[in-house]
Amino acid sequence: VADRVTPEQRSAVMRRIRSKDSKAELALRRALHRLGYRFRLHASDLKGKPDVIFRPRQAAIFMHGCYWHGHGCRVAGAPPKSNVHYWGPKIERNVARDGTTRAALEELGWRVLVVWECEVSAPDLDDRLSEFLGPRRMS
Ligand SMILES: [Zn+2]
Repeated sequence: VADRVTPEQRSAVMRRIRSKDSKAELALRRALHRLGYRFRLHASDLKGKPDVIFRPRQAAIFMHGCYWHGHGCRVAGAPPKSNVHYWGPKIERNVARDGTTRAALEELGWRVLVVWECEVSAPDLDDRLSEFLGPRRMS
């Protein structure tokens, strides 16, 4: 498959999407702070480097950008038509990898929550996080 995306186009797309991802990540961290949870970022010793982890709880949260992780929602939109051969397989690979990452973590006894970029400003985010994480203080 010919790569019809110039390096300039590619980095422009990557930049735009990456900054959206990090905005969503910050919103997630703010919610966790507000709720009073203590957490660590980007655990590099765990498969898939979860965005946020709560080690005593063996709980991990991934903040998935809707575009790169193939959410298929309105935020994600369709890949640019002329670049579909380039971006399509990349997104498919990401989705496949997300599945194996989750399975590997769960195998090790971790609980995994995925928060999509399009969900970080939803009114029920706090409830979802509290429900997933449980009581604030761990004895
Ligand atoms: Zn989405």
